[in-house]
Amino acid sequence: MRLLIPLLALAAMSAHVHAADAPARPKTALVIHGGAGFVPKDSISPQELKAYHAALNRALDAGNAVLQGGGTALDAVTAAVVVLEDAPQFNAGKGAVFNAKGGHELDAAIMEGHTRRAGAVAGVTTIKNPVKLARAVMEHSPHVMMAGAGAEAFADSRPEIERVPNTYFDTDKRRQQLEKAQREEAAKGKREARTGDADAPAYFGTVGAVALDARGHIAVATSTGGMTNKKWGRVGDAPIIGAGTWGDDRCGVSGTGWGEFYIRNAVAHDICARVAYRGDSLQAAADEVINKVVPATGGDGGAIALDRDGNIAMPFNSGSMFRGWIRPDGSRGTAIHEAE
Ligand code: ASP
Repeated sequence: MRLLIPLLALAAMSAHVHAADAPARPKTALVIHGGAGFVPKDSISPQELKAYHAALNRALDAGNAVLQGGGTALDAVTAAVVVLEDAPQFNAGKGAVFNAKGGHELDAAIMEGHTRRAGAVAGVTTIKNPVKLARAVMEHSPHVMMAGAGAEAFADSRPEIERVPNTYFDTDKRRQQLEKAQREEAAKGKREARTGDADAPAYFGTVGAVALDARGHIAVATSTGGMTNKKWGRVGDAPIIGAGTWGDDRCGVSGTGWGEFYIRNAVAHDICARVAYRGDSLQAAADEVINKVVPATGGDGGAIALDRDGNIAMPFNSGSMFRGWIRPDGSRGTAIHEAE
């Protein structure tokens, strides 16, 4: 008994010390992108610049509110991407690029790392927020990916999925980019799916988010209108699990860039595989894939990546990438060009 009392007191003290040591805030992190591309500094007016940063900050706020409220990484990336889809500045949802026929075909994917659940849609035309339909595919169907008319039919069975006429996605800026791309294509006499110079920069503008929640789980979402003047039902990397979108229990990646090269290099999965199998740091893995592997095959673009320790990497080889982040220590920022 004489021994027991001091022991009990010691146990109570150590419990107290542990409680005091507990982190004051949950270790969460969030990183988003609004697309990589070449956007020369002098091609953006001060008002446009303000609007870009404001939209990125709204998306960060939406995702972070979920994380700080104890919500899941899945809900956080959904919330952040919905904001970016609704912002006309970015090539996803409202403001999506035009295809060669003057319409819009949208791609999106979502993935939950620790369960490896995933959902994706490709070539949808009436879905206001394609990321929500991708999530519905994941949560309410036995499938991972649905395309075109089938995806639209599945949306008919989901009353929570908001529908819009295809013209809802129109913006003047994107129409001008299409007209310019088609003029250039006609002039060159060959088919190209990209726009070219400072007037209509080779700007991709896909959106994406990767989040780490307080339980240590990672989720990723990507959404896009694809590439200006795309043809023949072209599907890019964004909805392809492992190419533009990937999450596992230690790493998540959302890509943006010339999709064909992201598919051919399985970019998002390759970054996380380097972390898992080779023990690369997240930064080293993301840098090597984006700055060496993708350009070696002729592609360009960027990616956002996040690991379970809350490390964030945001490499791009394209001159600029709209991006925003909130680190586990609460520090946050938004940037477009390098060294910002
Ligand atoms: N990766 C997208 C695609 O090829 C384009 C982008 O990132 O903006 O569809």
